[in-house]
Amino acid sequence: MIRINENYLKLQASYLFSDIAKRVAAFQQANPQKKVIKLGIGDVTRALPDACIKALHTAVDEMAQDHSFRGYGPEQGYDFLREIIAKEDFQARGANIQPDEIFVSDGAKCDTGNMQEIFSSDCTVAITDPVYPVYVDTNVMAGRTGEARDGRYQGLVYLDGNKSNGFIPDLPRERVDLIYLCFPNNPTGAMVTREQLKSWVDYARSNQAMILYDAAYEAFIQDERLPHSIYEIEGAEEVAIEFRSFSKTAGFTGTRCAFTVVPKACRAFTESGKEVSINSLWNRRHTTKFNSVSYPVQRAAEAVYSSEGKTQVKALIGYYMNNARYIREQMESLGYDCIGGENSPYLWIDGKRNSWEFFDLLLEKAAVVCTPGAGFGKCGEGYIRISAFNSFDNVKGAMERIGQVLK
Ligand code: PLP
Repeated sequence: MIRINENYLKLQASYLFSDIAKRVAAFQQANPQKKVIKLGIGDVTRALPDACIKALHTAVDEMAQDHSFRGYGPEQGYDFLREIIAKEDFQARGANIQPDEIFVSDGAKCDTGNMQEIFSSDCTVAITDPVYPVYVDTNVMAGRTGEARDGRYQGLVYLDGNKSNGFIPDLPRERVDLIYLCFPNNPTGAMVTREQLKSWVDYARSNQAMILYDAAYEAFIQDERLPHSIYEIEGAEEVAIEFRSFSKTAGFTGTRCAFTVVPKACRAFTESGKEVSINSLWNRRHTTKFNSVSYPVQRAAEAVYSSEGKTQVKALIGYYMNNARYIREQMESLGYDCIGGENSPYLWIDGKRNSWEFFDLLLEKAAVVCTPGAGFGKCGEGYIRISAFNSFDNVKGAMERIGQVLK
């Protein structure tokens, strides 16, 4: 009898985005004349930078000729991309990351979801609450948790974010093995300081733990004092794996390219205490299960680092950050406490009422869609997330309508 992995049956159905879609569809049906403005989902809306488009065209033309055609590429990514990433994203910031520590992939979602596979099935996992749900669900699938009770899985260590800690959770009180951190944070938009990040690295070093650091929104960091990479913190290369993505940085959500950094100094242990290189283990996993990203897309990602590309990416990020600044100013002037929007494209707003109630109010009275914070975990109750990914005209229109409702 063929049997299933019963851990999948523990998964709580994620109703968040389908519930939102249902409520929006019902509203739209009842109010066909109203134009709904969507500031809910975290997807980019602006076209790819011109430098990336040019690189894509050139690479497609190469694929059209026998002499320049390319078949399977290296699973870890082409050297041209790994080299420029190591130089521009890490070495330029004083982090000694080498090209063979970079693994190009088709998304930070897959990498943050898959990385847990190389760690033991009985390791203790800590996640922050609110949280990007991929970290939780992939550990449930892998059997590292018990059943969900009252919205939380047994066996996971939840690190609470709240107003008093600015949604930067405290260090775990108990010893944990695997720690998921995401900064700038989705959904809260909170960003850690260098000192705060150092305390996590120190914790991991003294507890022989591993940090999985999701920096998918790194490009949105505006404050020059803040760390762009965990490897700017001394000793982090021994205890941290970092995830990056071109999705939000350069509008690649539909084009797909990302990368994960697994330093050679990163070690974990066998049951008998023998040290094993995480870089070799991930290399083994990646080359077995993944066949890299298409050549034209890797050329488009490389173009992000050209001087033309850098200017265009800066303008793209600047556009969304101007939206974020505007949303924050408007919400604060209406008397709402906000987190985020300064170094991230997300605003996390204390709605002063139940998350779904606030969602419904904005939908029904302002025809604006946000995301209820409760969908990201228990600690998200009472909050909503507003995304800055839209045109400025739409953002301005949405804020005018929200102003009318909340004033
Ligand atoms: N990590 C975080 C925190 C995200 O919010 C997202 C996407 O929204 C991802 C990873 C996924 O990125 P990618 O498009 O590279 O798979």
